[in-house]
Amino acid sequence: MASLGERLRHHLAVLVEDIGARPPGSPANRRATDHVQASLAAAGRSVTTLPFTTRWWEPGTGCLEVGQARVAVAPNPYSPPVQARGRARRVGRLAELEELAPRTDTILVLADELAREPVLPAAFPFLSSPDHERLRGALQRLRPAAIVAVSDHWEPILEDPDLAIPSTTVPTHVGATLATGDDLCLVLSGRVHAGAGVNLSTRLTDDDRRLVLCAHLDTKATTPGAFDNAAAVATLLALAELDHLDGLPLELVLFNGEDHFDGCGETAWLAATDLAPIVGAVNIDGVGLRGQGLSLAALACPPPLQDELQAWVDAHSGWVTAEPWIDSDHAILAMRGIPAVAITSADVHALLAGLAHTPDDTLAVLDLAVLERLATDLPGLLGLLTDRLGNGQRSNRAR
Ligand SMILES: [Zn+2]
Repeated sequence: MASLGERLRHHLAVLVEDIGARPPGSPANRRATDHVQASLAAAGRSVTTLPFTTRWWEPGTGCLEVGQARVAVAPNPYSPPVQARGRARRVGRLAELEELAPRTDTILVLADELAREPVLPAAFPFLSSPDHERLRGALQRLRPAAIVAVSDHWEPILEDPDLAIPSTTVPTHVGATLATGDDLCLVLSGRVHAGAGVNLSTRLTDDDRRLVLCAHLDTKATTPGAFDNAAAVATLLALAELDHLDGLPLELVLFNGEDHFDGCGETAWLAATDLAPIVGAVNIDGVGLRGQGLSLAALACPPPLQDELQAWVDAHSGWVTAEPWIDSDHAILAMRGIPAVAITSADVHALLAGLAHTPDDTLAVLDLAVLERLATDLPGLLGLLTDRLGNGQRSNRAR
């Protein structure tokens, strides 16, 4: 029988190198779900598929001309293709933007306050922001020929298929050269497609009262997604194949939409799932980074369980406790009062900035020894949670 290390390498090679970027709805995403489903079936697991429809982005290229200067730019995901010429109109504040009159021959340059953080897509189901709604509303009303956002943020400022205005994000050293009145020419390619996909799940026992053990298998359109999140998927597949989780009342859920603008897989799962028998959740996202140990954060856990988790971390080398964070699938359960444990890299937030969602998230960033440690320690952690949560110990559970 293949060893744990061989299994991890196999699944990582398929997901990261053979398939690569796998946004929900795309053919590559279908190859990824086919691989996961076939692997679980070959390990004797009965797999449930939960379908959804969505839209996906086929990345293109772009260039921006300012006078005689010409720079290569990346279209923002879901940007319509365009060849636009127009006068630059530079805006830095929301109140200022809302006072502008519509001019379809302008190229809006969004800077300062307007490009400080990525704008939540209209279809994102789990968070909203009144300021972001106002910004999207103002842009829809102004209907510029195109938008150039000026930002050094690691994520594009706009990533929204429901904002049908061509757009790009440029770094501040490029954006500093763009002034109101400049003649700009922006050329962008790329396409939005309709697509369909599935979440995959399998139950390890017949118990209805169960822990959800989950990881997302999708990626952004621009990354092969090694540490985010093939590493976690490979670890769960290897554990299932080696029967190391047998006997635990678990449902393995491979979510398909954590990195997607509409949370398609998560939304479909929440609509189809009775949460009442789910006693807890463990989500794994962003593990296995070279030079990083593992971290555990507890959300919606009763204080005695938090103390026991701290003791578990103290007794296991290579682990630290992290502050609760909400940027992944454990949050959709914790927000509903289900005790949830989030596992990621020890200092993932420091690394997210340069690595997550970029083409650099390749197998080279991973340390298989960290994934082997996770696979070795996880059954014990799940056993502890099963013991403590099996009777339905919950904190302020919303019903
Ligand atoms: Zn992730």
